[in-house]
Amino acid sequence: MRPQILYFLFTDIKYLKGIGPILSKKIAALCGGTRVFDLLCHKPNSIIDRTYMPRITEAEDKRVASFQVRIESHDEPKIRKLPFKVICRNQSGFLQLIYFKMKGDVIRSMLPLGEERIISGKVEHYGQIVQMMHPDRTGKLENADKIIRIEPQYPLTAGVTQRKLQDTIAMALEKFPTLPEWQERPEMNFKDAIISLHNPKGEADLLPDTITRKRLAYDEFLAGQMAQRLVYRQVTKKPGIKIEIPQLSPRRMTGSSPQPTARPRDKHGVTNEVINNLPFKLTGDQNKALQEIYEDMTSGNRMFRLLQGDVGSGKTVVALLAMLPLSESGYQAAFMAPTTLLARQQKEWFEKVLLPLGLKVELLTGNEKGVKREDILARLKNGEINILVGTHALFQDEVIFKNLGIIIIDEQHRFGVVQRLKLSQKNEHAHILLMTATPIPRSLTIANYGEMQISRIAEKPAERKPIKTLVSPIDNMGEILGSIERAIDKGKKIYWICPLVEESEKSDLAAAQDRYDFFHNRLGAKVGLIHGRMKETEKNSVLEKFLKGEHQLLVATTVVEVGIDVRDATIMFIEHSERFGLSQLHQLRGRIGRGDKESTCILLYSGRLGEQSTERLKVMKKTNDGFVIAEEDLRIRGAGEVLGTRQSGFASFRFAQMPEHEEILYKAREDADKILKTDPLFKTPRGEALKILLSLFEYDESINYISAG
Ligand code: ADP
Ligand code: MG
Repeated sequence: MRPQILYFLFTDIKYLKGIGPILSKKIAALCGGTRVFDLLCHKPNSIIDRTYMPRITEAEDKRVASFQVRIESHDEPKIRKLPFKVICRNQSGFLQLIYFKMKGDVIRSMLPLGEERIISGKVEHYGQIVQMMHPDRTGKLENADKIIRIEPQYPLTAGVTQRKLQDTIAMALEKFPTLPEWQERPEMNFKDAIISLHNPKGEADLLPDTITRKRLAYDEFLAGQMAQRLVYRQVTKKPGIKIEIPQLSPRRMTGSSPQPTARPRDKHGVTNEVINNLPFKLTGDQNKALQEIYEDMTSGNRMFRLLQGDVGSGKTVVALLAMLPLSESGYQAAFMAPTTLLARQQKEWFEKVLLPLGLKVELLTGNEKGVKREDILARLKNGEINILVGTHALFQDEVIFKNLGIIIIDEQHRFGVVQRLKLSQKNEHAHILLMTATPIPRSLTIANYGEMQISRIAEKPAERKPIKTLVSPIDNMGEILGSIERAIDKGKKIYWICPLVEESEKSDLAAAQDRYDFFHNRLGAKVGLIHGRMKETEKNSVLEKFLKGEHQLLVATTVVEVGIDVRDATIMFIEHSERFGLSQLHQLRGRIGRGDKESTCILLYSGRLGEQSTERLKVMKKTNDGFVIAEEDLRIRGAGEVLGTRQSGFASFRFAQMPEHEEILYKAREDADKILKTDPLFKTPRGEALKILLSLFEYDESINYISAG
């Protein structure tokens, strides 16, 4: 499948000379992949200039320098604790090399008496003596070029040395294949760009605006955008389920109070009845999104749409109203939530709304087992169940629908382009609606979801009061406790979000437990604790108590981030808020301010705030608009942080950098469009080269969809 020309780049690193299985694992973790190409995508982040070759006596203190010297003498210590000294000289003076804890034999064979060597490292003056402690590099004269140069410095990980990484990368670069050109007017070919990426000539070469980086960023974007186009073409190739647009009742527009529901049912009676029974009026953005969805459903094509909406913008009701016309036309719907907890909440709400109208909603997660599960699966297959809500479990092979009309995914775990394609293949006609709760900047939306139609809900439900946000040091817990007590007396509900400790769930937990103990000692049963390690049933029961008001202070790790809906919770404390990213803070804060009451979010911090944290917390104070926050986050921290790590499922870029390469993205998007129009089957020589590009960035799956069939 993979073009032969790429074989070397896709070889496992462990087969490279000098890299065993253990080291290769460490390098793979560092570079985000096990192939040679992953290694070559690992960018240097600084340089060391070894071209400075002063006279020995004139060498600047603490500066890295290189010297050509003759080895004069070895001064081996009598006691092991003392260093081994090697005296070297050239016509400009003496240089003393210092080695601690190194075997004499090793040093003697590395630096034999009387021989000339190139030595490079940091110069230190010790009185009159010029010395170098453990030189970074020593080598024979014939290797001078390899030492006296501007040396790239890579981010490292435990067990991988700079030297090893440099050498391995240099070795891999030597075998880098010359690839056919896919750019129309390249300033530099791909191979040279990769080589120059690893051979910066100065600090400026490390920045994103070099010809090298721009070429690579363009290629990366182009591959992604083409893959997305191909996926879109594939997904929409087969016709979609076509239904009539519901004639929506006028109540949606006017916002009058709920009508009695005893009218005769028309074809879209259920949809209208649900709208009529809602305790609120849909916002303009919700209406617009719904209209766009309905248009997709009547177009005869499959819907492949992203619904992007801030936390609390009311995506769920849009999802529900997207499913109903299909239910009314006899199709089933699948709704996937990010966690079991949320799946259960959604299911309960759907059921409450729909059961009186005669629609059946069921829940399928990992918890439904045995007879219960079989019963659900059977009723799904015979069409008795109208809406199935669940987690990942929905996509197991044993889950067979009678006639699935729509798949809705409330995303937390994000899917890549190829995964979205696979998803769409589960059922070839069903409409697909993806919902993201994380507003991301426009450019990143295009980079990650460019193939989808996009609906955005920016406007919050009108009755909602903006959340007041305060930034405060945590130095007086007594005072904070007092204010919590007063709030509890007034019947308020409060979240206390515990800090992230070191990325480790275990220590997160310990911190949360400590906080809980602290509050529990003083406030007793009013306090609840919820965290990711709890059993599902425990979580549910804590949440239940918080909903009912038995608990009024909920101490939580970031599990609440993923969409718990307690409408009358109005206060949130976030401990160590300086450790959270902007988008995450925004997600957390979105748990309050959901009802019509004033809400307050207190961002606590301890110690002195850094410049970035200060700026971040300021942004939080200033705005509640998720899209604005996302753009700011991108500006302050760059795309890597906004999107999270590779694990987040967002394609993190290898070469591209946002927002710096935004314009390049738009150009690549345009070009991808052009390519699919002018050479839809990739038949031209350039088309052939583009297939190699796709494969290089691991979009092989999408190459399968190039054929005419
Ligand atoms: P999210 O987009 O984060 O999933 P939800 O769908 O959970 O948001 O909605 C948050 C809350 O807002 C829910 O309690 C929901 O009932 C309510 N809601 C949704 N739409 C409106 C509206 N148009 N007016 C008032 N409240 C609304
Ligand atoms: Mg939601």
